[in-house]
Amino acid sequence: MAEFTLPDLPYDYAALEPHISGRIMELHHDKHHATYVKGANTALEQLAEARDKGDFANINKLEKDLAFNVGGVNNHSIFWTNLTPDYADPAGSAKDLLDGEFGGLENFKKQFSAAALGIQGSGWAVLGRDNATGNVSTFQLYDQQGNVPFGVTPLLMLDMWEHAFYLDYVNVKADYVNAFWNIVNWANVAERIDAAKA
Ligand code: MN
Repeated sequence: MAEFTLPDLPYDYAALEPHISGRIMELHHDKHHATYVKGANTALEQLAEARDKGDFANINKLEKDLAFNVGGVNNHSIFWTNLTPDYADPAGSAKDLLDGEFGGLENFKKQFSAAALGIQGSGWAVLGRDNATGNVSTFQLYDQQGNVPFGVTPLLMLDMWEHAFYLDYVNVKADYVNAFWNIVNWANVAERIDAAKA
């Protein structure tokens, strides 16, 4: 079975300042994301061990650990590439999708921000596209793995766990979400839309 590895950030830790501090980015990538990578690999090892022994007493805990940690790995890998120090307004497929499905960028920001700010506990705001229908919507992803159905491809994700913003914004989540709009990598979102349609 393939091992998970920690991808490099596509920019320096401090590249997203003043919107997200270098300190948060360093901790978030080197500690939090790295811990999910380790947890995912541990869960895979423990599941293999359980199969070898034919002992499935802990199967549900191990599968939850796997889902949580693989979620953590994949969500952060998407999140880093959804951000950029070189902001440019949506163009191409991203602009088409926002204009066609959400009534433009400003309206989309309202919907996505409402999803982000309404999360109870830890989770993510997600713009996702259903593979079967092509329908797009915002979702609240609970923890790292809950409340989004299979078959939805994430296009844009915002980490709303406290570790993502607390050092910079303490409890004022709205300021963090507002700052996020200055560093969204719309070119990456457009690439994800094109790949999802292909
Ligand atoms: Mn995180």
